[in-house]
Amino acid sequence: MPAMNPAFEAWAAQAAPAFQKAGATYSAAVKFARLYVYSWSAGLQPRITSMFRDPAKQKALQDEYDRLPGMGPKKPGFLARPATNSGHTRGVAIDMPTNNDRKAGEIARWIGGMRVGGDFSTPDWGHYDVA
Ligand SMILES: [Zn+2]
Repeated sequence: MPAMNPAFEAWAAQAAPAFQKAGATYSAAVKFARLYVYSWSAGLQPRITSMFRDPAKQKALQDEYDRLPGMGPKKPGFLARPATNSGHTRGVAIDMPTNNDRKAGEIARWIGGMRVGGDFSTPDWGHYDVA
Protein backbone atom coordinates (compact mmCIF):
# COMPACT_ATOMS: atom_id res chain seq x y z
CA MET A 1 0.00 0.00 0.00
CA PRO A 2 1.20 3.53 -0.66
CA ALA A 3 1.85 5.90 2.20
CA MET A 4 -0.07 9.18 2.40
CA ASN A 5 2.13 11.75 0.65
CA PRO A 6 1.48 15.48 1.18
CA ALA A 7 2.94 16.41 -2.22
CA PHE A 8 0.69 13.90 -3.99
CA GLU A 9 -2.34 15.11 -2.00
CA ALA A 10 -1.53 18.70 -3.04
CA TRP A 11 -1.13 17.64 -6.68
CA ALA A 12 -4.50 15.84 -6.57
CA ALA A 13 -6.21 18.90 -5.04
CA GLN A 14 -4.93 21.17 -7.83
CA ALA A 15 -5.68 18.56 -10.53
CA ALA A 16 -9.27 17.90 -9.40
CA PRO A 17 -10.73 20.88 -11.35
CA ALA A 18 -9.33 19.42 -14.58
CA PHE A 19 -11.14 16.15 -13.83
CA GLN A 20 -14.32 18.17 -13.13
CA LYS A 21 -13.89 20.00 -16.43
CA ALA A 22 -13.88 16.56 -18.08
CA GLY A 23 -17.28 15.88 -16.49
CA ALA A 24 -16.57 14.33 -13.10
CA THR A 25 -18.42 15.46 -9.98
CA TYR A 26 -16.22 17.19 -7.38
CA SER A 27 -16.01 14.23 -4.98
CA ALA A 28 -15.28 11.83 -7.84
CA ALA A 29 -12.70 14.22 -9.31
CA VAL A 30 -10.69 14.31 -6.08
CA LYS A 31 -10.68 10.52 -5.75
CA PHE A 32 -9.75 10.00 -9.41
CA ALA A 33 -6.93 12.56 -9.18
CA ARG A 34 -5.59 10.77 -6.08
CA LEU A 35 -5.86 7.39 -7.84
CA TYR A 36 -4.00 8.86 -10.81
CA VAL A 37 -1.10 10.32 -8.84
CA TYR A 38 -0.62 7.36 -6.49
CA SER A 39 -0.79 4.95 -9.46
CA TRP A 40 1.71 7.10 -11.32
CA SER A 41 4.03 7.15 -8.29
CA ALA A 42 3.84 3.34 -8.15
CA GLY A 43 5.11 3.20 -11.74
CA LEU A 44 1.79 2.00 -13.16
CA GLN A 45 1.62 4.48 -16.08
CA PRO A 46 -2.09 5.33 -15.70
CA ARG A 47 -3.92 6.69 -18.74
CA ILE A 48 -7.44 8.06 -18.79
CA THR A 49 -9.41 6.57 -21.67
CA SER A 50 -12.96 7.59 -20.69
CA MET A 51 -14.70 9.64 -18.06
CA PHE A 52 -18.00 11.44 -18.73
CA ARG A 53 -20.19 10.08 -21.53
CA ASP A 54 -23.39 11.78 -22.43
CA PRO A 55 -26.38 9.41 -22.42
CA ALA A 56 -26.65 9.55 -26.23
CA LYS A 57 -23.03 8.43 -26.55
CA GLN A 58 -23.61 5.63 -24.04
CA LYS A 59 -26.66 4.49 -26.08
CA ALA A 60 -24.53 4.57 -29.25
CA LEU A 61 -21.94 2.35 -27.53
CA GLN A 62 -24.68 -0.12 -26.53
CA ASP A 63 -25.98 -0.17 -30.11
CA GLU A 64 -22.45 -0.78 -31.40
CA TYR A 65 -22.03 -3.63 -28.90
CA ASP A 66 -25.41 -5.15 -29.83
CA ARG A 67 -24.55 -5.16 -33.55
CA LEU A 68 -21.34 -7.18 -33.00
CA PRO A 69 -21.52 -10.94 -33.45
CA GLY A 70 -21.20 -13.26 -30.47
CA MET A 71 -23.01 -13.87 -27.20
CA GLY A 72 -20.97 -11.59 -24.95
CA PRO A 73 -20.19 -10.34 -22.42
CA LYS A 74 -16.83 -10.06 -24.21
CA LYS A 75 -16.98 -8.84 -27.78
CA PRO A 76 -14.23 -7.27 -29.88
CA GLY A 77 -13.30 -3.97 -28.18
CA PHE A 78 -15.61 -4.57 -25.22
CA LEU A 79 -15.24 -6.38 -21.90
CA ALA A 80 -18.98 -6.22 -21.33
CA ARG A 81 -22.14 -4.54 -22.63
CA PRO A 82 -22.06 -0.84 -21.68
CA ALA A 83 -24.47 -0.37 -18.78
CA THR A 84 -27.73 1.54 -19.18
CA ASN A 85 -27.40 3.14 -15.74
CA SER A 86 -23.69 3.90 -16.05
CA GLY A 87 -21.64 5.97 -13.68
CA HIS A 88 -20.07 7.39 -16.85
CA THR A 89 -23.32 9.22 -17.66
CA ARG A 90 -23.47 10.63 -14.10
CA GLY A 91 -19.89 11.87 -13.88
CA VAL A 92 -18.89 9.38 -11.20
CA ALA A 93 -16.90 6.85 -13.26
CA ILE A 94 -13.53 6.73 -14.95
CA ASP A 95 -11.71 4.25 -17.15
CA MET A 96 -8.05 4.50 -16.26
CA PRO A 97 -6.15 1.41 -17.34
CA THR A 98 -2.57 0.97 -16.16
CA ASN A 99 0.18 -1.54 -16.76
CA ASN A 100 -1.00 -3.38 -13.60
CA ASP A 101 -4.72 -2.94 -12.95
CA ARG A 102 -4.71 -5.32 -9.99
CA LYS A 103 -2.14 -3.16 -8.24
CA ALA A 104 -4.09 -0.01 -9.22
CA GLY A 105 -7.19 -1.67 -7.76
CA GLU A 106 -5.35 -2.11 -4.44
CA ILE A 107 -4.50 1.60 -4.49
CA ALA A 108 -8.16 2.48 -5.23
CA ARG A 109 -9.30 0.34 -2.28
CA TRP A 110 -6.69 2.07 -0.10
CA ILE A 111 -8.02 5.50 -1.17
CA GLY A 112 -11.54 4.24 -0.49
CA GLY A 113 -14.96 5.50 -1.47
CA MET A 114 -14.92 3.95 -4.92
CA ARG A 115 -15.69 0.61 -6.53
CA VAL A 116 -13.06 -1.27 -8.51
CA GLY A 117 -14.39 -2.60 -11.82
CA GLY A 118 -12.16 -5.65 -11.45
CA ASP A 119 -14.30 -6.67 -8.47
CA PHE A 120 -17.52 -6.74 -10.53
CA SER A 121 -19.17 -10.10 -11.30
CA THR A 122 -18.16 -9.38 -14.91
CA PRO A 123 -14.73 -7.87 -14.21
CA ASP A 124 -14.10 -4.49 -15.82
CA TRP A 125 -10.46 -3.83 -14.95
CA GLY A 126 -9.42 -0.20 -15.25
CA HIS A 127 -12.93 1.05 -14.41
CA TYR A 128 -13.56 2.86 -11.12
CA ASP A 129 -16.68 4.54 -9.87
CA VAL A 130 -17.89 6.45 -6.86
CA ALA A 131 -21.20 5.18 -5.51
ZN1 LIG B 1 -15.94 2.38 -17.23
